[in-house]
Amino acid sequence: MTESLTPETAAEMPVATDISTGTNEKILLSVKDLRVWFELRRFGFGHAGYVHAVDGVSFDLYDGEAIAIVGESGCGKSSLMKTILGLNKITKGSIEFKGENLAGMNSSALHNYRSKVGYVQQDPYGAMAPFMTVSKILDEPLKINTRMNPAERLKRIEQALTEVKVTPVLDFLPKFPHMLSGGQQQRMVIARAMILDPQLMVADEPVSMLDASVRVEILKLLRALQERHKLAVIYITHDLSTVRYFSRRIFVMYAGQIIEKAKADDLLNNPKHPYTNALLTGTSEPDANNANSYKNVPPGEPPNLIKPPAGCRFHPRCPFIMKGLCDVEEPPNFHIEDEHEAACWLFK
Ligand code: SF4
Repeated sequence: MTESLTPETAAEMPVATDISTGTNEKILLSVKDLRVWFELRRFGFGHAGYVHAVDGVSFDLYDGEAIAIVGESGCGKSSLMKTILGLNKITKGSIEFKGENLAGMNSSALHNYRSKVGYVQQDPYGAMAPFMTVSKILDEPLKINTRMNPAERLKRIEQALTEVKVTPVLDFLPKFPHMLSGGQQQRMVIARAMILDPQLMVADEPVSMLDASVRVEILKLLRALQERHKLAVIYITHDLSTVRYFSRRIFVMYAGQIIEKAKADDLLNNPKHPYTNALLTGTSEPDANNANSYKNVPPGEPPNLIKPPAGCRFHPRCPFIMKGLCDVEEPPNFHIEDEHEAACWLFK
């Protein structure tokens, strides 16, 4: 479990309501009833079922909008992210980028799509080839995806490093990843994600492996890049203490499904789904007075995704279960108000 922001670092960040969304209401990415199942095979027995990693996820992401996808480990958020990046096969449903279906793209269209999507990994050191210098790491995507000459590429690399504040640039170009601090490595990974001037950035737990003091700087940097470049961002995290500073909307995932969607402030101040309530109850506010406070979290573990429970997937842990309904019928998304939806029979 990673630490949340400290009181000092949290105080430096303005809340989500201060963020300009930059959205112009044009849909950039549309995910419809997406299902990603992984087949299980047992030695000598063959097919042994499917892991329902993503199971019926739908949402639209607008141009220039930052959203956060939040959930516990194993809820399917990383499988969803990898599918959006074009790395997992879609079992059912669709992902459209600017109206074009990912599943129908040939290899050149897919290559073009990937160049428009920047990816910031959780482990910055693991994300870079240890035998390549900073200069080579940033040069490679430019060589593969553009027709820039060496002087133009160097200029672009210098711009990218300056923008992520890895300076003086010339000192860093010949360095290898192990010669950089954790914060500098993450800035490098962000520079690489930005080097092709993407329209969408997928950031997978981008601060969870960093010290608390560096974490706030990286979040501020990501937000500055999002606003400056009118970037759409999908921020994947299990840490609710960081989402309020970054995203316009928050989607909560549980057992392969999105169970609640709302504007950031609305979700954090007025959660509806019992699971979201449980997640928020279990998140420490950055206040020293809360150090020994009792957390009333629901018992049990997330379900086995090979055989998810019938009906609402949260019903084995839910204190509000309505027998004969919640354990039988899967709740649809109920519209509550404005952009707030929850998949729970309490809001029928
Ligand atoms: Fe609880 Fe029923 Fe709502 Fe599921 S649908 S969260 S079991 S009340």
